[in-house]
Amino acid sequence: MHTTTPGEISRPIKRLIEKVVPGGNGIYLPVNPEAGAVVNECFPNVQAKLERDGGQMLCGWQVWEWPHVLVEAEFHAVWKSPAGALVDITPKTQNETHILFVPDPRLSYQGLAKDNVRVPLRDDQVIRHFIRVSELIVQVMNKGERISQYGHVSVPAYEILPLQEARGFLGVSLASGLRDHDACLCESGNKYKRCHGRGWSSVLGS
Ligand SMILES: [Zn+2]
Repeated sequence: MHTTTPGEISRPIKRLIEKVVPGGNGIYLPVNPEAGAVVNECFPNVQAKLERDGGQMLCGWQVWEWPHVLVEAEFHAVWKSPAGALVDITPKTQNETHILFVPDPRLSYQGLAKDNVRVPLRDDQVIRHFIRVSELIVQVMNKGERISQYGHVSVPAYEILPLQEARGFLGVSLASGLRDHDACLCESGNKYKRCHGRGWSSVLGS
């Protein structure tokens, strides 16, 4: 992915924070990966830390930014030490040294995933389609009894592959700076919104 910890709490990030935790605040926390902790597995990581060293689990949202594309909030847990310090003990794929975190006192971890909350950074159909298809992938992964499965989730290829292909296409489009009025990535010569964008609009909405 192209997302990273935001350099500052910009206006769109304030909007995102207000959306996930009305009246909430973003705070920068250090990342101090715990030995044996696993990337993306914050809940088991913090649980194991509590059993070893005490303290508490604090749930909330980690804020990510894809510059010029979107900001998103991811359901996340950090460790509160017995002395009260907040630390993210989960290692990061891009080796970020700090995170932007929004504590959410209403949340605790119940074994169920929550989708990210995403806000586009400009009005563009390619970004809207990327966000929508990302939401649909999570919905498919969590459909019916799949919601209570952890780790490997078995999903029929016909349900998930077209969405993953669309997300890949849109992700590459955005990474190369393509906007809805630019030539489509497929090299048809037509603008995105008159080419792949038109097809996906009928499936994903505008
Ligand atoms: Zn196309």
